Amino acid sequence: MYRGRFAPSPTGPLHFGSLVAAVGSYLEARTRGGEWLLRMEDLDTPRTMPGAADAILRCLEAFGMGWDGAILYQSTRADAYRDALAQLAAHDMLYPCNCSRREIADSAVQGIDGPVYPGTCRGGLRGNRDARATRVRTQGAFISFRDDLQGEMAQDVEQAVGDFIVARADGLIAYQLAVVVDDAAQGITDVVRGADLLDSTPRQIWLQRLLALPSPRHAHLPVALNAQGEKMSKQTRAAAINYAHPVPALFDALQFLGQDPPAALRCEPLADVWGWAGAHWRLQRVAPARTAQYPG
Ligand code: GLU
Repeated sequence: MYRGRFAPSPTGPLHFGSLVAAVGSYLEARTRGGEWLLRMEDLDTPRTMPGAADAILRCLEAFGMGWDGAILYQSTRADAYRDALAQLAAHDMLYPCNCSRREIADSAVQGIDGPVYPGTCRGGLRGNRDARATRVRTQGAFISFRDDLQGEMAQDVEQAVGDFIVARADGLIAYQLAVVVDDAAQGITDVVRGADLLDSTPRQIWLQRLLALPSPRHAHLPVALNAQGEKMSKQTRAAAINYAHPVPALFDALQFLGQDPPAALRCEPLADVWGWAGAHWRLQRVAPARTAQYPG
């Protein structure tokens, strides 16, 4: 049984970049006869925007993308994350860290996702400052996996990232841990999402191993770039999707995803565009690239 998902962060309305992840994961799930679940990644409370979660749901509805089952809100999952932390701690895989950002930046080499944590607090806290975060050990985390689009991937997590944060001292749970706990809880078999998360996948597979959870299959779609060559996101002021007129955006998403929709489809009713997409969708037509240009 195939079970996919879309896991938006409600930091603003959907824009073209997030629509691509929604459409790609939806079509892959539906054409494989699978389920498509929804999860609101509303953990990062300072970045969460009031009303954004509902706006995303209204947008998906307007596009005719129905989801299966109840929506999982990460803000309701504190107990599950605490259990996972306890399990990691029981295996002595966690330690507290009181390094400041500044100290890490000064002493570390640059990795794939900022400075590589050099393991300063592995043997115990330095000085008598309070811990700021909890880190997971990554010694021996040589991870390789086959991405359905991007091909063979390999990463030595300790070298590329270092022992990474799973929780902050104020209780905020890191995305890396939450996504792993929730993909398992939702029984996700296949993750289709943007390639901006490709470098995070080895961290997630490492946590899945430590927690004895199955790893889903992965397909990472290219990330949409705007005319300036920047990732389309809230930070680069990507326009909100106009869900009063879903067809042009859906057409652009299909084109971006390499499906080569016939031009006449742009003027067809929404149901016909989905009909065409359902009949013609092939994941393998998506460019195996980390980024691609927004066609609009
Ligand atoms: N919430 C993440 C985002 O919106 C996606 C997480 C995921 O698909 O694993 O970028």
